[in-house]
Amino acid sequence: MSDFYRHTKIIATLGPATESEAMITRLITEGVDIFRLNMAHASQEWVEEVMAVIRRTSTEIGRHVGVMMDVKGPEIRTGMVEAPILVKAGDRFEFHIETAEPPAGSPAVSVNYPGLPGDLDVGATVLVDSGLIRMKVLEKDAERVRCEVLTPGTIGSKRHLNLPGVTVNLPALTAKDEGDLRAGVAAGIDFVALSFVRQASDIGTLRTFLERLESNARIIAKIEDQAGVRNMKEIVCEADGIMVARGDLGIEIDYHKLPLVQTELIRACLAEGKPVIIATHLLETMITSPMPTRAEISDVSNAIREQADAVMLSGETTTGAYPLESVEVMKNIIRSIEPTVPSQLNPEIRLREPKAKMLRSAAVLAQELGNSGIVVFTRSGFLAYVLGALRARGVPIYAFTDVEPVFRQLLLPWGVEPFLIEFSDDPEETILNALDYLKRKDWVASGDWLVVITNILAHKTIVDALQLRQVK
Ligand code: PGA
Ligand code: MN
Repeated sequence: MSDFYRHTKIIATLGPATESEAMITRLITEGVDIFRLNMAHASQEWVEEVMAVIRRTSTEIGRHVGVMMDVKGPEIRTGMVEAPILVKAGDRFEFHIETAEPPAGSPAVSVNYPGLPGDLDVGATVLVDSGLIRMKVLEKDAERVRCEVLTPGTIGSKRHLNLPGVTVNLPALTAKDEGDLRAGVAAGIDFVALSFVRQASDIGTLRTFLERLESNARIIAKIEDQAGVRNMKEIVCEADGIMVARGDLGIEIDYHKLPLVQTELIRACLAEGKPVIIATHLLETMITSPMPTRAEISDVSNAIREQADAVMLSGETTTGAYPLESVEVMKNIIRSIEPTVPSQLNPEIRLREPKAKMLRSAAVLAQELGNSGIVVFTRSGFLAYVLGALRARGVPIYAFTDVEPVFRQLLLPWGVEPFLIEFSDDPEETILNALDYLKRKDWVASGDWLVVITNILAHKTIVDALQLRQVK
């Protein structure tokens, strides 16, 4: 097994600290598997530029990464302020809809959601800037909500508002999201993460839109409010993967229940064989410090022990002072913790098709052999996604495909190491090419045993087969 190999994938959000060609090159070399483009802060021109840099540099380096566009969905944000507004406990503060006149002489900001006054009752809680500033609604009319500040802070431009427990009446996909997606699809994104997914039909809305754009990007549902948690089972079934968006989730639900929801979401994904990403605050203090806190090390370890597919960096790599160090810390924790994860195969996964059931036997066989791996050929990615979901600890999944977008989508699932090759008409030749490739790149050595999932021609019928091969 190669030294590069790890089961858990690393996602890094790009931003001012990392958007240069030099930094993107270093992050790819350091081991980032997927870049996230956060459309709360990015422009469509930036997407086009940064995508070109990512594709060019990964081709030069010879290591490829996936790209995930994160669209904001029904997220409420404040408008622009001329200068940051300092608010103290006891102050009055007003939110008004964009078409309303700002009040003269008292601190206020507009919001991008005209339904805000209608959705909020007097006495409700409004949280500004990811929960940092807490306010209580005192009075409202059709255009304005007047609040009392409970916890002080500074309100800058385009701050995020949370209204815990309130069902926001915004569409799953806004006009801005649609514009962002058009730009993303044109630039060749591999994944779309949709914010604030509340029900399965939100995924359907996005999928229909992507189909119209003829995009096969995989859809990651971000679970970040109470409705998303309530409907997690149907959302997991409908989406291609889940992000445990702990930033908003930790505000929208009781913070002390966050670890329970994280575990529940991971379980729901393991049962359906869908990838799951743990996001936000994993190494938060590394935004300003070269070392994580002991608690952060434990949090990342917990995600690895719970066998999440990927861990994600946000502020650490967008504006942080130590983006490369953050990736390095992730890698080191993964290296130390992964070998101690139980090697028991995923007991919860529901395998429906006979071929999927065969994969479990392949995983058992590879673990039994030891120092082995599974070779799989896939055009849709399905078999490799199922193999990843089986969580065969210690068994690399070498997934060969001849479809470029599928190749990059295989960078997400746990344990899958994808390769893009040409398939030959003769399955035997394809297998020999794949084994030869693995040997040339030092993933395997002469004498190693591999389990190969393939199909063979028996007279005139194609038969699914599981083969045992020794590397020559
Ligand atoms: P965000 O989503 O970074 O786009 O807010 C992640 C989260 O809420 O955790
Ligand atoms: Mn969020």
